[in-house]
Order: sequence, then structure tokens, then C-alpha cells
Amino acid sequence: MSDEGPSTLENMRTQMKRAQEYANVTENVFKRLKHPERTLEVSLPVLRDNGEEEIFKGYRCQFSGARGPYKGGVRYHPSVSMDEVIALAGLMSSKTALVQLPYGGAKGGVVCNPKDLSRDEMKRVTRRYTEGIRRMIGPKVDIPAPDMNTGPREMAWMMDTYSVYEGHTIPESVTGKPIDLGGTPGRVEATGRGVANTTEQILEYYGRSAEDATVAIQGFGNVGSWAGRLLAERGANVVATSDVTGGIYNPKGIDTREVAELIESGGQIADYDGDVDPITNDELLRLDVDVLIPAAVSHVITSDVAEEVRADIIVEAANGPTTPEADDVLAERDIPTVPDILANSGGVIVSYLEWVQNTQEYRWTLEEVNADLERRMTEAFENMMEAYDEYETPDLRTAAYTIALDSQATAHEHRGLFP
Ligand code: GLU
Repeated sequence: MSDEGPSTLENMRTQMKRAQEYANVTENVFKRLKHPERTLEVSLPVLRDNGEEEIFKGYRCQFSGARGPYKGGVRYHPSVSMDEVIALAGLMSSKTALVQLPYGGAKGGVVCNPKDLSRDEMKRVTRRYTEGIRRMIGPKVDIPAPDMNTGPREMAWMMDTYSVYEGHTIPESVTGKPIDLGGTPGRVEATGRGVANTTEQILEYYGRSAEDATVAIQGFGNVGSWAGRLLAERGANVVATSDVTGGIYNPKGIDTREVAELIESGGQIADYDGDVDPITNDELLRLDVDVLIPAAVSHVITSDVAEEVRADIIVEAANGPTTPEADDVLAERDIPTVPDILANSGGVIVSYLEWVQNTQEYRWTLEEVNADLERRMTEAFENMMEAYDEYETPDLRTAAYTIALDSQATAHEHRGLFP
């Protein structure tokens, strides 16, 4: 991961600091915006299939509740740490503010490697984690959702566990659920769809089109693979992708559907035997393409990588893929980077639409969901470009954070300081 010293949390604070100069935020309120409201660490004893008990660490951070209930996903990954969860919760607070959802920001995680866990073990980890944080969450308080290595299956277990303790079913306590349990059509592909929409928009802004644009996608999990499939449907040429086992490349384009099917059935990129050449993840980041989409872990675009990026545009599907030092290099090299808090906001936008449907006990169609998602993201994109032009910020991220800071600061000013 990062070889550039500062932690994920420090990086997030640097990004906020850069926007402070343009935002309408007092020094006092800015102090509040930098600190998480509360963070819980839980130890989760879980029975392994071999009869042994193992203690897993879990976290939930509620970063900011000024604009509404805390909202954010839960990730399962060996590199999860309290510092990372806090930073990602801060990122969620900025994301919900930028795209104007009536939420604050939160994040959760469990330190584990899902590849080493059976289905039953995953279920026990998920239920125990939910029990561990259940006093902290709730449909009007803090609403968990999927993130890295979690999906509808885990959300169903979380919703069930929470509901069992409450004594009745509360679908709106969790988003990203299976459709039969109150999930919404379009949630699974929402983040990828938002990434595809944003990619089209930024290309159009620079007078180009997605048609025939070459695209490299690092990471082909839920977000990367949906972005890839939807961009390919819109005529883009997805020439490379990867996972932890390495990457594949074909300048004529790869079959995104076939690769997605392989990954969804539990396979790995290294197993793919289509018409492709192998490349490393490092090589993928340096490919000469129109658009580079980092859709895996944080901190992959360091200043060294940024010096060698040959893409014209970067669209951040992952959370936190670019370090602040790399941002400086990319700005200097005139490589526009659409920040995570806009590019991957499709997930939380459709989570919000799911929550609204649950609270109203009403079901929308896929067309209605997709139209609402597109409208919100287009508006957020236009607002970001307007701020970029008006304030002449060094990069798009600073423009996006300026809007997010303004919105959060306004909420704090209206509410005042307690007591
Ligand atoms: N985990 C996603 C994110 O980072 C979605 C969060 C949500 O739906 O609440 O934006």
C-alpha cells in the first residue's frame, strides 16, 4: 500500500485542508469537521469450522452526524484498521454532503480475509459483528451497507441479526439487501453505473466521448466489473483489468462480461484463458489509455506512479486510491482526476433510494432508480465543475471537497455548538 508515510486519515485531513482555503468555513467549525464523533472497537469471538475459537477485530466509526443519520459500508479485509475505518468514515461524510444526501458519514470493518472463511464462518463473523455494534446503529441512527468483500448476502444477515434483537423486521436498518428482503433494483450495480456515468461526463466535458475511448480498470470486483461492463456497453474499449493475482491486457479490448462471470463464479484473473496478455498491476497503472479507473484498494497512485501515468483522465472508483502528493503531480501534469467522493457515490445514492423505499414501504422500478441516480450524479458533477471554474482550485478533488465542506459547515452553523 502507501509507501509515502502519512496514514489514510492524515491524507484525508490534507485533502480537507486544501479545500478549507476556498470554503466558507470558520476555523472553529473546521476543527470539528476533522475529528470523528465516535469510534467503537469490538473483539468478536467466532467459532471456526475446525472447532477452534478465533477473535476477530471489528470497528464502526461515526464520523459526522451533522447532516443526518450516519451512513456507510462495512468492509472485510486483512488490512482493515481503526485508522483506515475513521478515514473512510470521514470520506463518507464528504461524499454524502457533496451529492446532497440527508446523511452524515460512517464506516465499519472487520479484520479478516474472506477467502479463508467458509460461508458459515462468514455468517458467524457477520452476526457477531452486528451484535457488537448494534447499540450504535439503527434505521434513524446509522445505516450500514456493503463495501469491499461484503454484499447482499452479508446485508441480509446484518438486517436479520439487528431485527431479531429489536423483535420485528426492520428492513431500513441496512441497505444493499437482496431484493426479496427490501433491497432495491439497481443497488448491486449502482456504484459501477455511477462510475460509468461519471466517465462519460468527464470525457464529454473535454469534448470527447466514451465511444471507442480506451479504458484500463484496476480491480474487477463488484465496482470495477460493473463499471467495465457498462462502459463496454456504451462503446468504450476496456483494454485491461486486474485483481490481486495480476492483470490482463488486449489493446483490441477484453470481453468484460466473460471476465466478470469468471470472477463472480469465484475465479481469479490469473485463471482467465481468453485472448489476452498478462500484465502486472503496476504496468496497468502506467498503460497508455484514455481513462484509468483505479477500482481496488487505497493509495495505489503514489507520486512515483503519478509521474508515469500515461492515461489522459483518471476516474476514482475505489476509495482513496490517490495520495495528496500524487494529486500534486497529476495537477502539474494536467491529468484530471475525478475524485472518489463523486465518482463512486452511486452506491450510497442508491442506498439512500433503497432506504427511502423501505421507510415508505413502496417499491420503485429499476428505471426509476437509475433515472434518479443519473440525475443526482449529473447535478453533483456539474456543481463540482462549476466550483472548479469559479474558485480555480488546483484540481477537481479540491473543488469537490470545497462543496462538501461548505455543506457540512452550514449544517454545523445552523445547529450551533452544544452545550
Ligand atoms: N460502501 C459504499 C461507499 O463507500 C456505499 C456506502 C453506502 O451505501 O452506505 O460509498
